[in-house]
Amino acid sequence: MSFTELRYHTLDEISEVYERLQKTFRAGKTRPFDYRRRQLHQLGRLVQENLSALEAAVGEDLGKPKLETVGELNGVIAGVRYAIDNVEQWARPEKVEVVEDFKKGWDATVYKVPHGVVLVIGPWNYPYILNLGPLLGAIAAGCTCVVKPSELAPASSKLMEELCARYLDPDSYSILNGAVPETTHLLELRWDHILFTGSGRTGRIVAASAAKHATPVTLELGGKSPVVIADDADLDLAAKRVLHGKGQNSGQLCVSPDHVYVPRSKQDAFIAALLKHYDAFWPDGPFHESARWGKIVNPSHHARLRALLSRTKGEIVRGGRYDGEARIAPTIVKNVVPDDALMEEELFGPILPLVPVDDMEQTIRLLNAQTVPLVLYLFTNSENVKQQFLERTNSGTLVINDTTSQLAVYEMPFGGQRDSGYGRWNGKYTFDTFTHLRSYIHVPLAAEPFMDGRYMPYTDGKYEAMAAIVKAPLPKL
Ligand code: NAD
Repeated sequence: MSFTELRYHTLDEISEVYERLQKTFRAGKTRPFDYRRRQLHQLGRLVQENLSALEAAVGEDLGKPKLETVGELNGVIAGVRYAIDNVEQWARPEKVEVVEDFKKGWDATVYKVPHGVVLVIGPWNYPYILNLGPLLGAIAAGCTCVVKPSELAPASSKLMEELCARYLDPDSYSILNGAVPETTHLLELRWDHILFTGSGRTGRIVAASAAKHATPVTLELGGKSPVVIADDADLDLAAKRVLHGKGQNSGQLCVSPDHVYVPRSKQDAFIAALLKHYDAFWPDGPFHESARWGKIVNPSHHARLRALLSRTKGEIVRGGRYDGEARIAPTIVKNVVPDDALMEEELFGPILPLVPVDDMEQTIRLLNAQTVPLVLYLFTNSENVKQQFLERTNSGTLVINDTTSQLAVYEMPFGGQRDSGYGRWNGKYTFDTFTHLRSYIHVPLAAEPFMDGRYMPYTDGKYEAMAAIVKAPLPKL
């Protein structure tokens, strides 16, 4: 648990900031590209000049190893560089190639205009990339933006508030801190877009509040992201990559491999490979100082995970140890059945259940019976197996032969499907999320002689002319 006291903003302060950001946006201050690039540059400096403080804050909140935090911040810096280099091109109006002759002179164009004043609500588990990442997209899009980080990571939320006030234009961007009452107040205000990252339960509350103002929402939720080990998989490499994915932030990652479907005949060999890599990753055990093994965010999540472990009918192969109310050792559980306690909810902790299956058909049936995950990890080298999973299963992302490395590909959209959310962000996709595509035409006065057929009175002759167009032959197949 963190020791930092986080001061929550008062409801009056929240309303004041909202009014200020509205005024700034209406004045057009955030639209010029030079302004956007300067603010993005400042965000980059914020990270680079405060690396140690940022690492220390999330270290206090989560005991997160510096290597993981610097990797997370690398995501912010990569996003800043990408946006500075490309924002002007992303925002360039697009002339539309019209196909029908009569519209050809109408100057059909799509303008990329900022949505306006936007709200980002973030979780505690990767506080920098999941708050500053959307913020940088909002800056690139030309929006003003409030970010509400999680109160469960008080040291990093407090630091982001202080640093953003110091580095970014306070008329345009603000970090507001608070818990449920403060967020509820924020949600009563009318935003032009809300990007929420967190649990499905809260996401539904956010979407329902946004609906009152018809505000568009992006929901980045979690869920149980499965791993599938196919018959032909390289078991040793799969074990190493799954254990590494599960180990990041002690399993508290939205794309953590949640559980593993493994061929029944290969479960023992897969466990042997997992144990080999377990010993290599944490040679002196996960609680030894050298392991830099992080904490569970708070005692109530610690108790939730302990309760799940106490109810499982699976067999613990390794781990299952606790360190007060702070840490839980990476824990491998075998012979877990699909309706086991460990399969009830997103684990969001360092427990890895292995679910033995008879064949691929059973795996696909099990996958399609559960909620749609943020990501599906499939270990195989068979083209046929890849195709089967591409065509017959659903997920936000499908990753072959690795875990979590999709996060590095910011050139691709990141987002869920159905239960794991809707909308997308990352790289240009965050810019798109905060951008309205404003269609534009300019109908020339000179077109008037060709428009007579649409005007009243609606004569039979005009009808026949229009009906002839409807009845014209379709393209040949
Ligand atoms: P959470 O839903 O509890 O909280 C997220 C945010 O919502 C916080 O800022 C919190 O203050 C606010 N909030 C909480 N309750 C609220 C309420 N009743 N009304 C209004 N606001 C409220 O989620 P969390 O525990 O911070 O994060 C863990 C979850 O987030 C996991 O399910 C994880 O998979 C998911 N997640 C998803 C992604 C993604 O990119 N898809 C990334 C990280 C985490």
